[in-house]
Parts: sequence; C-alpha cells; structure tokens
Amino acid sequence: MADREQKKPRVLSGMRSTGKLHLGNYVGALDNWVKLQDSYECFFFVADWHALTTDYADTSSIKQNTMEVLLDWLAAGLDPERCTMFIQSHVPQHAELHLLLSMITPLGWLERVPTYKEQRENIKEKDLGTYGFLGYPVLQSADILIYKADYVPVGEDQVPHVELTREIARRFNMFYAGKRVVFPEPQPLLTPTPKLPGTDGRKMSKSYGNTIMLTDPEAAVRAKLKTMVTDPARVRRSDPGNPDVCPVGDLHKIFSGRETLAKVDAGCRTAGIGCIECKSWAANALVSVLAPMQERRRKYEENPKLAWDVIEAGGARASKICDATMNEVRQSMGLTKEYEPAPDAARAK
Ligand code: SF4
Repeated sequence: MADREQKKPRVLSGMRSTGKLHLGNYVGALDNWVKLQDSYECFFFVADWHALTTDYADTSSIKQNTMEVLLDWLAAGLDPERCTMFIQSHVPQHAELHLLLSMITPLGWLERVPTYKEQRENIKEKDLGTYGFLGYPVLQSADILIYKADYVPVGEDQVPHVELTREIARRFNMFYAGKRVVFPEPQPLLTPTPKLPGTDGRKMSKSYGNTIMLTDPEAAVRAKLKTMVTDPARVRRSDPGNPDVCPVGDLHKIFSGRETLAKVDAGCRTAGIGCIECKSWAANALVSVLAPMQERRRKYEENPKLAWDVIEAGGARASKICDATMNEVRQSMGLTKEYEPAPDAARAK
C-alpha cells in the first residue's frame, strides 16, 4: 500500500468496447460505478482487446465503438476528476503481464471457465477456437492484478473470472514471490442487478434488438414504450392487471418514485388506469434519467478532443502504476535488464 497515493481501497473494472450503451448496461454496471467513485480509488477502462477476442475478423469499427463507450461513461457521470478512465490498448503493460501469466496458467483452468464453455456452445457464427479467446480470462487477470486492485465490481457472470484471477495470483506468488506477496488477491464486488426488461419483455440485450439506448431522444423513448409488451392478462382496458408480471411494471420499480409506483399498483390492479397512461409515466421516468446524461454528453460530442484528453490523462496515470508493478514482476521472475556478471562458479568453467 505504500505506493498508493490514497488510503481508499482500489477498484478496477472494465467494459468491452461494444459501441453505444443501453439502459441495461447502465442499471447493471455503470450506475454502480458512478456511485463507487467517491468511496474507492477507481480505475475504469474500455477493454478493446477483449472485444477483439470475439470480433477479430473485422476491426473497422473498434475505435468508434471504444469512443462511444467512453462518451456514454462520461454522460452517465463517471467524472475524470474522481476516477481514472483509460483504454486497455493504450496501456500495453497489460499485454506483457498477460504473457507472463499465460505461462503459469494451466489449460484446464481455462477450459473450465463457464463463460468459455457457454460461448463456445452458443456462438456459432464466429470461430472462437482461437488462442486469444481461450486466454480471455488470463488477460482479464492481468488487467486486474497489474493494479493490485482490491475490488472488482462485476455482474454474476464475471465472478468466475475474478476467482480465476485469485488462483493465478496465488500461483504467481507461490512460484516467484518468496516470502513477499506480489499480487494481493482481489475480491469481486457483486453489483446488485435489478432485472431490466427490454421492450419485448426479455432481458434487455443488444442481440435481442429490444434496447433503450442512453442516447435515445425523448421521442424515441416514448415510441419504444408505446410498443412495449405488458401483462398479457390485460387484454381490454377494463381487465385488471398485475404490475409484478408486467415488464412496464418492472421499469417503474427501477425508475419511478414512490408516488407513481403506488398509482401504478393500485390503478393496474383495479383497471383504474390504462396501459397507455401507465407507459407514459414510465417514459417520463426514463426521460428524467436520460436527459441529464444527454446534456452531459453534448459537451463531449461537440468537442470529442475533450473526451480524448480524459483518456490520455487516465492512460498516463494507469501506465505509471503498471510500470511499478511490472518492475516488481520482472524482478521477482529474474527478468531485469541490468547487467549482472555471471556467478564465479560459472565463469571458472
Ligand atoms: Fe403493465 Fe401498467 Fe398496463 Fe399494468 S397498467 S399491465 S403495469 S402497463
């Protein structure tokens, strides 16, 4: 801890550069990151190399996608004064650590990772039988360990990756650290994720085409809400419904205030309100969340160089920490650059 400027525990997390973010990304992760900024020393990065593990064949939009993620972060309230934001590929020290960690990572550990097995089975349109894709969690481990992060805020699906990171840290320490600890073991910081349905009632996801984007203008949000599915039991206006089984009801629970929630609950169950009215209230709530984000985004859209400045400053800060860790790593492994004369015994031969 002596090399740390602040006493706050350190948090690190990343998001793959998949382009513009939607409300599901916000509620599932970003919103939580924004809240962590003051209690932790936070590092957030756009994982463009991780995006390459699946989208390696065509890299023409990778930079644009990275930029969109960054703009959405700034829009959502990640504040360059209170956290460090950077882009993975701008800090190539991650790659050196990834290489070294790959030497000590048994294949079996990687083949057992649940996300690996699932994606190999489910994604058929791309060839994921690559070295890079298998190594995805090793790269993630390097991302985390190079900052000696204490906490990694992630969703449930990423917990096995943090577990693997802990195992790799332990193995590294055992081989190379002697009595010291080069890599402390990070803890996952589980993000409480309310279920956020998309317009079709399924989980909001880019691949389902049911998203509400953080950049959707008010008219688009209202139009999307109009077509959103509701409690199927409410066929006619006079049929009572149940907000607990209605995707619009779920949106209210996440975004609406107590008063509106009470009106929805009572009105829906007694058929006192219609779905059109109820949806317009949900749209109001969404618009009031999105409008300030879009306002913040405008400044950076008008002057994208400002966003790039954030990334350059963040990259420089990240790089300094990485250099310190990598010196320690190279030292531990006997990979330093200084000239060392051969030991006497060897010279005598
Ligand atoms: Fe859903 Fe609202 Fe209609 Fe009830 S009134 S079914 S909560 S949209």
